[in-house]
Amino acid sequence: MLRLPPFRYHRPSTVDGALGLLGEFGDDAMLVAGGTDLIPNMKHRLFEPAHLVALRDVDELRGIREEGDRLRVGAAETLSAVASNPDVSRLFPALAAAAGHVAGPQLRNAGTLGGNVCLDTRCTYYNQTRFWREALGWCLKKDGDVCHVTKVGRKCVAAHSADTPPVLATLDATLLLAGPEGRRELAVRDFFVADGIANTRRQPHEILVEIRIPLASARLRQAYAKLRQRKAIDFPLLTVAVAAECEDDGTVVRIEGVVTGLGSRPRILTGWDEVAEGRVLDDEVVEELASRAHRQCHPLDNIIVDPEWRRAMVPVYVRRALLDLRAA
Ligand SMILES: Cc1cc2nc3c(=O)[nH]c(=O)nc-3n(C[C@H](O)[C@H](O)[C@H](O)COP(=O)(O)OP(=O)(O)OC[C@H]3O[C@@H](n4cnc5c(N)ncnc54)[C@H](O)[C@@H]3O)c2cc1C
Repeated sequence: MLRLPPFRYHRPSTVDGALGLLGEFGDDAMLVAGGTDLIPNMKHRLFEPAHLVALRDVDELRGIREEGDRLRVGAAETLSAVASNPDVSRLFPALAAAAGHVAGPQLRNAGTLGGNVCLDTRCTYYNQTRFWREALGWCLKKDGDVCHVTKVGRKCVAAHSADTPPVLATLDATLLLAGPEGRRELAVRDFFVADGIANTRRQPHEILVEIRIPLASARLRQAYAKLRQRKAIDFPLLTVAVAAECEDDGTVVRIEGVVTGLGSRPRILTGWDEVAEGRVLDDEVVEELASRAHRQCHPLDNIIVDPEWRRAMVPVYVRRALLDLRAA
């Protein structure tokens, strides 16, 4: 049985209270929301914080409601709450679908949207017990200086493996972060960086307070498709989010596709407007976009499933998402 390392558990009720605790304990503290990723990682000794600062009692991190020209989703809202919320389902069905496809029901009841956005990257050589990692000689992301995926190079290539950020990016969502210096808003599409060790622009002691989605994005046709080994519980091997603004007759005004599960950050597929703008999304356009995605995606051997097969699945899942979008 894997046991947790010892830690002290703090339950502040305000964002300032949580920031105060993070300031007091410095690098010895970590935030925990649902704990569905952090707690297993602590059991694997990937993190051993002496203090856990829980976000579950912080009221400001709750609530899903329209505010002005956007829908705000508190970062501590559970994935189940997001997936079943009538406003989310009506306005942003792709987000409801993505939240509803994370892991399994129990994990969605505890896991939060904020935790999903801030999820640590994953790799075959990282998400293992301490004993396993030690036997291999550690790895670049934790305790070592070798990347077992690339064998060369100093860059960690652990995979971004969260389902909701690609959808949030296509919906032009932003993130409200609170830190010791105050608050700032950052677009989801600018939040991630290509570094498997620290793949977001969130500072260690910043708290994600809310996710903001412009109501204007509700006019987009949206879809989401996920490749995984089993139909429940599994992390994505590939996630595809697509969104398009279309005229009444179906002519594309703008279209975007974002994939993840391959590299260290969600990838915005390029050149889609050049292919589809001014055209109806017929089978020919769908095929052109799918093969374009295939040319752009080159998965690495960073998660357990064969990278060549995952690459072959890219056009399949892009096609599925686009056909769903067309039918939306
Ligand atoms: C068996 C299994 C299957 C899974 N399958 C999937 C899957 O299919 N798709 C998927 O996307 N995920 C999956 N997960 C991972 C996880 O359940 C979800 O990503 C979940 O949304 C994480 O949210 P949480 O609240 O539990 O985060 P936590 O585990 O509490 O935190 C995760 C990270 O985010 C940080 N954090 C959390 N909230 C905030 C905040 N408000 N501000 C700043 N930092 C914060 C924490 O410090 C930690 O580093 C799976 C997990 C397990 C155990």
